[in-house]
Amino acid sequence: MRFQVSTDAKTDVVDVTDQVREAVPDGSDGTVTAFVRHTTAGVVVNEAEPRLLEDIDRFVAGLVPDEGWRHDELDGNADAHLRALLVGPDVTLPVRDGGLALGRWQSVLLVECDGPRTRTVDVVVRAD
Ligand code: ZN
Repeated sequence: MRFQVSTDAKTDVVDVTDQVREAVPDGSDGTVTAFVRHTTAGVVVNEAEPRLLEDIDRFVAGLVPDEGWRHDELDGNADAHLRALLVGPDVTLPVRDGGLALGRWQSVLLVECDGPRTRTVDVVVRAD
């Protein structure tokens, strides 16, 4: 299963917990992996409090200098690749009785590093 997410800015953080949850079959136990099929976006688990999402956005934007990279000679987005490298392309979560076994404050967040774009997230469920 896969789903798409639209992002609104060069760097952006979008809560995709509901889309991942919808991919999990009723009553299943095991793990679910959410994987972004991109080299300039990633996924993480953290809190989806709106001000924190802005903080994450600002933090990710500040991780890497915007200019001065060799790949920029090709398509100008080396900074986005390097930010995504630090975010990582996937998360794996436990599944219990068809639900995501997340902590109370945990959400699955897509981190955009080269938007705005439409991103694709693959979701794979493995049963115990
Ligand atoms: Zn590139």
